[in-house]
Amino acid sequence: MTTRHYRLAPDRPLPRPVRPYQDETTRSFIRRINSANVLTHGELIKTLRWDRRPWMYDLATWNGTPPGILVLAMPQLANSHPDPIIRLKLVGRPIRTRHAPACRHCTLARGAGPYVEVYTTHERTLCPDHKLWIGDGIGTIADQFNIAACPEIIEAWHHHKNLITRHGHAQVRRAFHISDVINWSWYDQFQHFSAAMNTYEALTAGHPRQADSQALVAAALYPSIVKLTAAIASPRWRYIARSPHPEAFLDRVGNEITDGWTPQGAFDPLRHWMETNWTAEFRGSDTILPPKNR
Ligand SMILES: [Zn+2]
Repeated sequence: MTTRHYRLAPDRPLPRPVRPYQDETTRSFIRRINSANVLTHGELIKTLRWDRRPWMYDLATWNGTPPGILVLAMPQLANSHPDPIIRLKLVGRPIRTRHAPACRHCTLARGAGPYVEVYTTHERTLCPDHKLWIGDGIGTIADQFNIAACPEIIEAWHHHKNLITRHGHAQVRRAFHISDVINWSWYDQFQHFSAAMNTYEALTAGHPRQADSQALVAAALYPSIVKLTAAIASPRWRYIARSPHPEAFLDRVGNEITDGWTPQGAFDPLRHWMETNWTAEFRGSDTILPPKNR
C-alpha cells in the first residue's frame, strides 16, 4: 500500500532530493533518500543493481546533484581515484575504516535530520562547535554527550590537531593507537590516575545516565591518551624511550599522566612498547593520501 504517484527509474529525479552530507556512508545516504521519498526497503538498491552503472550516476540523477559534487562529499562512491586532481582534493578525508554518527546538532542545523552516519578518523573525537563527544564509544546519537564542563578535553583535542600538523597524520595515528591501548590497559588495572578520574567524575555528574558507558570513560581518558601520544609521536622522545637510559621519558609520563608512578616490569604495556616497539603490523592511514609523484 503506497500513496506514491511516481515510479523509481534510473533516469528520473526523485520528488524529494536529498543533499549528501560530508563523509556520509552510502548506507546512511540511501536510508535518508528512502525516508524522504517514502521508498520501500530494498527498492532503491534493486534499481541501482539493475541499472549496472556505477551507483554515483543514479544517485546523482535522483538527487539533482552532479556526480563530481557527490564524489567530493562521498569519496567512496568513486571507489578508486585515478584522476590525480580529484585525488588531491580528497587528501586528508577519511577512508572506509571507521564510521560513527556525525554530531547530531550539526546534521540538524544543515537540514540532514538528527542521524547521519559518516566515515571518520582517529582525531575526530568531538564537535568543536557544539562541544559534543563523537569519538570512541559512540554507537548511536543518543550516546553523544556534552563535554563543555571539561575544558581539558577540548584542550586535548587542540593539542591532538597540533600534533598532526607537527608530526604528520600517519605518525600521530600510530602513536595514538599505541597510547590508547596503554591507557585503557592502565584503566583496567587501576581505574587510571587522578586527572582522568577527576574528568570522569565531572562527566558522570553531568550525565548520570551514561555513567559507566565506554564513551564516557573514553572521553575521560582522552587527555591522558593525547599526552602519551605526544611523547610517542615525537622522534626525540621516542629515541629516549628506547635508549638504555629512558629515565627522562618515564619522568615525563610520571609527571603528566601517572601521578609519579613509574611503569615497571615486562607486563606493563608501556614497558612492553619501549622494549619491542610493537612491531606487529599497523595499517598506515585512515585518510586518503596524496597521489604518488612519478
Ligand atoms: Zn556539531
